Parts: sequence; structure tokens; C-alpha cells
Amino acid sequence: MIRYHPPGWQPYGFGQRMAAEWQKQLAEAVRDPAELLRMLDLDPSLTEPAAAGRQFPLRVPRAFIARMRKGDPGDPLLRQVLPLAAEMQAHAGYSSDPVGDLASRAAPGVLHKYQGRVLLITTGVCGIHCRYCFRRHFPYAQEHARQQGWAEALTYIRADNSIQEVILSGGDPLSLNDEALAGLVAELERIPHLLRLRLHTRQPVVLPSRVDDRLLAWLAACKLQKIMVLHVNHARELDSDVATALARLHSTGALLLNQSVLLRDVNDSVAALAELSQALFARGVLPYYLNLLDPVQGAAHFEVPEPQALALMQGLRARLPGYLVPRLVREVPGAPSKIPVSESAFATPAGG
Ligand SMILES: *Cc1c(COP(=O)(O)O)cnc(C)c1O
Ligand code: SF4
Repeated sequence: MIRYHPPGWQPYGFGQRMAAEWQKQLAEAVRDPAELLRMLDLDPSLTEPAAAGRQFPLRVPRAFIARMRKGDPGDPLLRQVLPLAAEMQAHAGYSSDPVGDLASRAAPGVLHKYQGRVLLITTGVCGIHCRYCFRRHFPYAQEHARQQGWAEALTYIRADNSIQEVILSGGDPLSLNDEALAGLVAELERIPHLLRLRLHTRQPVVLPSRVDDRLLAWLAACKLQKIMVLHVNHARELDSDVATALARLHSTGALLLNQSVLLRDVNDSVAALAELSQALFARGVLPYYLNLLDPVQGAAHFEVPEPQALALMQGLRARLPGYLVPRLVREVPGAPSKIPVSESAFATPAGG
């Protein structure tokens, strides 16, 4: 079960007495599904309050709501955040830890699944709650790396010189304040075998005010090679404020990549995926992964069957230059990497 910080909780560090604009906006995120539907001129009966309350509450910043179309219950941005009755149905094969995260825990908040890189669960807090999230049941309260001021996580990374890259993840690492992040990054820079720092974050997209001078200062100063993997599922998530935020991130020297999740009735068409790749590239971001949905309890209504996913990829390749085609992957517990989903898996043997 996930325990959330109470509404209004703010991750201020000492020396940062004034809330930054993004922190105010995070505190003002909409948490009431009925309010969200009212803002969009939609019928409040579209949502399932029990789904929102029991497992994974609604949370969506107003900056993201502003990009939704009023009066459209099928809006692809709304679908990503609105709790539905379908979440309450149990489905065979859907579990609460679909990617084996708990088994790959190497130290508190450290997931070491793949050679050369470790993933740090820096926080359980996100700026938005995505209904399909594979970590919606992850026990963050016990499992983030910051409990002892990062000490155990840092000890683990220092002791293993095969680790070249640290991935700050969560939750969303950019839910933490910049003092906390700058302090962690300063410690990481002192570890001689580390070459790269990666951030997995949706915050610059859902809350572009997060990309402020404080963030840019430590990021630009970081001596490690920087990669930021954003998370955008639909071209309409990219408005002009996001474009400005991405341009500023680009100016720090960070490589900007994107990962998406293939989601039924959000981006499951060649047109939507092609438009997303083009819109990302126009803002300096390269498509990286297109993830098949992880079979997490409560998300089965987002599933796109594998043969359909492969057909979409074929359509994309026929339409876009190779560098705009993301890699279709799935996560398999215990595997040494994300697994490419390939057409050969569906080739039927002769006579079969
Ligand atoms: C996805 C993931 C990574 C990153 O994998 P890449 O293929 O390098 O993008 C690293 N560690 C964990 C635990 C992951 O889940
Ligand atoms: S921002 Fe990422 S980690 Fe947070 S709820 Fe959405 S998908 Fe999950």
C-alpha cells in the first residue's frame, strides 16, 4: 500500500523558507474527481470515487488540466488521470508488483536490475497520478533512498565500481526540492566511477514551472553527463510553457529523451504516435522507449494487445525517419534489460 504525504505537505529544505512557484502549484493540484469533471463541463458520474479513494487518489496539476478539451469525456489527457470503475475489477495476470521491483532491491531505495546502472527511488511523490502507473502499489513509505540522508544508497554505489550511471527516479525525483537534489548530485559527482546522471521525470511536462532558475543552476553545474528521460504520451501534453521548459533544460547540456506507455484510447493509433514523435522532436526531445503496459492491478482497461502494438510500429516505421521511431519494449521480471517486442515472436511455424 502506498502512503502519501498529506495534502499541503511541502518538501522544503532548510535555507529554502519561501515556497517556489512550482511548490505552490503542486499544493494546488486538483484532488477531487468531481471538481476536475466540473472544470471540464463533464458529468460527475463519469468517475468512480471508490477507485480514487481506496487505492490511488486523483492528483493533477491545473497546468495539465488547462490542456484538456472541455466537454470531451474521451480526452486523451483526461483518460490518463481520471479514476474509473474499471480499475476495481480484478484481472488474471495483473498484480501489484508486475516488474519485480521488490526483488531487485539492493539497498534502501536502490534498484539494481541492469549491468552498469542503478535506479534510485528518491521519493514516492509525483506531480500527477497516472492511472496506469506500474508503481501505483509500490511501498514507497518504506522504500525511498532518502531515509538516512541517502547514506546507505551512496555506500552501495561507492562500493560497486561497475556502476557508471545513476538514475534518479521515484515517484518523480523533481518532486524533491533543489537543495535536496543538489546535495545528492554533489555526493554522486565525488564517486570516481560514475560517468552519467539520468533523471526519469514527468514534472517538466505536467508542471513546467518546476523548471526554474534553482533547478537549472544545479543541473547546469553538474559535471556528470546528463540525460533526462521525460514521459509524454500524447502530443497535446506539449504546450508552449512545456516547450519553454524543455528549451531551458536543453541549455544545461542535458540530452532529452522521452518514454511513453502505449495506452488504449490515449495513443493507440499510428497518427497519434507519429504526431507525438514529431512534436517531441520539434522541442528537442528524441523518442526513446514505447513501453507496453505493465500488468498492474487496476490498469487492464489500458491494455493494447501485442499484435496490435506491432502493427502500430510497422505503421510508424513506414511514416517516420528511423530516429523518430521509439523502441517498443516490455519489462520482464528478472531479465537483464528491457525486452524489445519483436515481430518474430509472432511468426507461426510452417504448418502451425
Ligand atoms: C528501466 C530501468 C532502468 C533503465 O533501463 P535502460 O534500458 O537503461 O533505459 C534501470 N534500472 C531499472 C531498475 C529499471 O527499471
Ligand atoms: S509520473 Fe510516473 S511514477 Fe508518477 S504516477 Fe505517473 S507514471 Fe507513475
